[in-house]
Amino acid sequence: DALLSVRNVSKTFQRNFKALDNINLEVQQGEFVALLGPSGCGKTTLLATLAGFLQPDAGEVHIEGRNVTRMPPHRRPLNTVFQSYALFPHMTVLDNVAYGPMRAGVRKPQARERARESLKMVSLDHLADRYPAQMSGGQRQRVALARAIVNQPRLLLLDEPLSALDLKLRKRMQLELKALQEKLEISFIFVTHDQEEAMAMADRIVVMNQGVIEQAGTSGDIYKMPRSRFVADFIGDANLLECDRDGSRLSLRCCGQPAGALDAASAGRDMLAMLRPEDIQLSRTPSGLDPMLHAAKVTGVVSIGSHTTVYLDLNGTAIEARRLGANDLGLNRGDDVYLHLPADRIHLIEA
Ligand code: ADP
Ligand code: MG
Repeated sequence: DALLSVRNVSKTFQRNFKALDNINLEVQQGEFVALLGPSGCGKTTLLATLAGFLQPDAGEVHIEGRNVTRMPPHRRPLNTVFQSYALFPHMTVLDNVAYGPMRAGVRKPQARERARESLKMVSLDHLADRYPAQMSGGQRQRVALARAIVNQPRLLLLDEPLSALDLKLRKRMQLELKALQEKLEISFIFVTHDQEEAMAMADRIVVMNQGVIEQAGTSGDIYKMPRSRFVADFIGDANLLECDRDGSRLSLRCCGQPAGALDAASAGRDMLAMLRPEDIQLSRTPSGLDPMLHAAKVTGVVSIGSHTTVYLDLNGTAIEARRLGANDLGLNRGDDVYLHLPADRIHLIEA
């Protein structure tokens, strides 16, 4: 059975604004799930509903088989880490972490023992006697984590916990947090608006948009097979090319190349062909007499060392192609170039 089961949960603010619209989600024991979506899509509202700080208007939340929808936050077998991880400034790190168990009735020596264990988990036991002001942002974030896991919750909810950190530290904390989660075998629901962060950490990504779940799956599935235009655009970069229809056959409008066939489910719908920039191949010459090479013009080149992005115009359609490494073809704006759009990489999306 799932550890967490969210069933048809909806939440309306101010009479008619649906912040959550019929959310269904299951999280397994030990699973790391990222809730990913743009600012304002309802991530925090969903997390607050799971934690019990908000009551849904409709639907139920079950944890470990129990309906907790009406259960107060402190009785739920979970804990929450927020972006602003307010530590008590006048308490040592150890006492900050021991505070939770003590409030739950554990005596001070035992609570401190547990706090020490928890600090060890986040590799901060050597700083137990410091005060929050004497620590870096990353260390304080780890204290907040230690505090959240000290009561050994089954489920940890994390609301953009790394977003206040600079990029280098954030990337290191992503790896640390993922390793910690695997070690503890606690289920994590990790909110982020950063798709790279979600992909770096999560077993499964749940993409939200305007109060609904657009798609849930592994990062690979979502990247290769986005179900909607929104997901294709939000996760990575996407070329979305219009298609013409001849019966059930589709062809790319920009060059006439076959793009696939409509199945029964999508018959009668307008479809877009998606190609990721790294799937598009470029060459200077029409080599190999490939009938599926298309002449295009370079409109821009951006090289950032690890890869080069080439912007192209294919009969009036803008296309973005990406190559690993430097601009090895020596392309410049205005150059003529040949494109190969591999048919086996084309993924069809409802327009
Ligand atoms: P996210 O965390 O994805 O950025 P939120 O869950 O915080 O988004 O908010 C979702 C939407 O609900 C936003 O449009 C926000 O303005 C609105 N909202 C959130 N909380 C309240 C509230 N207490 N009252 C009214 N509107 C709210
Ligand atoms: Mg939020």
